[in-house]
Amino acid sequence: ATMPPLLSAIANAGRHGVLVKSAVAMERLGAIDTAALDKTGTLTEGAPEVTAVRPVSAPGTAPRLDADGLLALAASAEYPSEHPLARAIVSAARGRNLPIAAARDFAASPGRGVTALVDGHRVHVGRADTPEGAETTVRVTRDGVLLGTLALTDRLRADAAPATAALTALTGTAPALLTGDHPAAAARVAEATGITDVRADLLPEDKVEAVREGERAGRKVLFVGDGVNDAPALAAAHAGVAMGRAGSDLALEAADAVVVRDELTAVPAVVRLSRRARRLVL
Ligand code: ADP
Ligand code: MG
Repeated sequence: ATMPPLLSAIANAGRHGVLVKSAVAMERLGAIDTAALDKTGTLTEGAPEVTAVRPVSAPGTAPRLDADGLLALAASAEYPSEHPLARAIVSAARGRNLPIAAARDFAASPGRGVTALVDGHRVHVGRADTPEGAETTVRVTRDGVLLGTLALTDRLRADAAPATAALTALTGTAPALLTGDHPAAAARVAEATGITDVRADLLPEDKVEAVREGERAGRKVLFVGDGVNDAPALAAAHAGVAMGRAGSDLALEAADAVVVRDELTAVPAVVRLSRRARRLVL
């Protein structure tokens, strides 16, 4: 027997390195008319590196920790986290042979940061309200006192611009960028990919709201993301695609399709496959 078009499209998507979960999911991918992309891990490689460690102090006083001490403390609090920023901070500390203390009472808050007890002190590593420049900045506090900041940068995916251009061609409008990072870091990526609709400082629920806003305007939104913070938006979108390599389990579960081979251009490719199959079905 010949395979129904949507099923052969799923097989073809597999050859492009995309795991589409069902015929219904395959069908939805071709129906989208708008796209929105996460930044970290989606348009960027999701393997950031620590580029600066900046202890701070109150005016006229010495910093409480030097750069190594600050990095070691942050790494201890981040150690249990799977977030790409956490992995970067831990490997930077390892690279400098710094001691990583066993943290207790760890908690992660998606889109915000982490907190843990390190040597009996409450340490928080997370979003900075006053970021510095185009880099991603996280602040480190101990018992509520700001000890310093860490700067991280993440390389743009090699195919971020072509994938964005292909999605623009498929939908007639450039995709939106939805990120939990700050506006300057988002602008750097938007500029490099030709994106103009940039929404930064978003919490997971804000990404959902951005998707819903499009749906309320009668659009069928494709959302592409990778993190725990993206899972709700992946579920809310007409079609959700998760980047698989560094993707969190929650994101992979919430998505209609998972990019297994680590290429962003696989996303427009699978939309095209679905559209072709839909023309044969409908
Ligand atoms: P994105 O939407 O770009 O994928 P996230 O929503 O995961 O980013 O994170 C948004 C911001 O929250 C980060 O830029 C960072 O400031 C902060 N953050 C999230 N998780 C962590 C963490 N584990 N450690 C430090 N900061 C974090
Ligand atoms: Mg992400």
